[in-house]
Amino acid sequence: MNELSVPRPNNLDAFWMPYSDNKYFKGTPRLLARAEGMNYYTPEGREVLDGTAGLWCCNAGHGRREIVEAIQKQAAILDFAPTFQLGHPIAFEAAARVADLTPDGLDHVFFTNSGSESADTALKIALAYQRARGQAQRVRLVGRERGYHGVGFGGMSVGGIGPNRKQFGAMLPYVDHLPHTHLPAQNAFSRGQPEHGANLADHLESLVALHGDTIAAVMVEPVAGSTGVLVPPKGYLERLRALCDKHGILLIYDEVITGFGRIGTHFGAERLGVAPDIMTMAKGLTNAAVPMGAVAVRNEIYQTIVDGTQAGIEFFHGYTYSGHPLAAAAAIAAIDIHVREDLPGRVRAIEGYWEDAAHAMRSAPNVIDVRNHGLIAGIELAPREGAPGDRAMRVFRRCFDEGVLIRVTGDIVALSPPLIIEKPHVDRIFGTLQDAIHKEAA
Ligand code: PMP
Repeated sequence: MNELSVPRPNNLDAFWMPYSDNKYFKGTPRLLARAEGMNYYTPEGREVLDGTAGLWCCNAGHGRREIVEAIQKQAAILDFAPTFQLGHPIAFEAAARVADLTPDGLDHVFFTNSGSESADTALKIALAYQRARGQAQRVRLVGRERGYHGVGFGGMSVGGIGPNRKQFGAMLPYVDHLPHTHLPAQNAFSRGQPEHGANLADHLESLVALHGDTIAAVMVEPVAGSTGVLVPPKGYLERLRALCDKHGILLIYDEVITGFGRIGTHFGAERLGVAPDIMTMAKGLTNAAVPMGAVAVRNEIYQTIVDGTQAGIEFFHGYTYSGHPLAAAAAIAAIDIHVREDLPGRVRAIEGYWEDAAHAMRSAPNVIDVRNHGLIAGIELAPREGAPGDRAMRVFRRCFDEGVLIRVTGDIVALSPPLIIEKPHVDRIFGTLQDAIHKEAA
């Protein structure tokens, strides 16, 4: 055992692993025991380059001392205090720091513990706001096919992924979906925002024709990640924004992966040039060191809900750990790094190199599309006949065994490295992936 080694667990059985093939994993466990900078290490100390920032979340790289120390310090000062009808200083400070980064006018921040909780919170804020402004008939929520908003009943219902729903039967009522924006025949191998598909936003107009003024909100990811990197076509978000404004519908962005620098600005809204009314975030908020999510809302939304109540509780929603002191400390330290090291600027500096490397994958066998924006790339493989997802899963395992962590969703390889990535890391990620795809095709 070298200096980096950590013992393997004796019992793999008790932990029911989320979103996993438990039987397969427990037969062939691939464990990550430590992390530092751009790398993970297996229990035996083998290095695995992180091509996914964990799960799109360790944007500043792993093991950042400032974050570790901030958490340790805060734990010694105040382990926990409620934020229901009470407060503690660091939660207010963390909210103000988040509000400094969000687009102008989204200056009020509600804390949660995850992206899923943020999605459900955002939907509830939208419904509460519509009621508070005298539009109680607006009870319908609109999502988009292939949208992912976590696993709460709100996010799952508004999300557009069939397999996530089919085990559970009934979903929320009054939910519709816009079509997804993936148009392979017109947009394959687009660099950045694709040319075709802005008109897909017009489907909202048909929903309004059908449902009148009963739609409360539309929720989309600015760039959909978990369903295989779908970048919005040029003009699409502009049209969605215009239709929402025309019809009194709120626009909610799920910025859980696009927040905190991923596409070269603090939030995706800035880079894509269209601001929402409500924005969810999580992951990069604390650099994933402590679970935390948040929802930022336009000032008028906060004011309408808060002023709409004479006295007493204005919004019947909250989590024991909303604004948890350790998470707040981690968020402040992560935001300090984000600002001081200009992580969005680093993304813009390397994204061209990243894009070229991603599109060079086009020459590999079975690659049928490449999509990218900022430090995100999706490489789509042709599914193996009769075994969807199998080819990509084999490529994933090969890459892991060769020392590079990628992520696969269906037959799409989704890459989203820490934002501190440098050119040699980019070369290694795509070199290892090329190799694995070639070997899989042989
Ligand atoms: N929304 C988006 C866009 C996500 O990518 C994710 C997680 N991948 C979530 C919500 C859910 O976040 P969590 O797993 O923290 O609940």
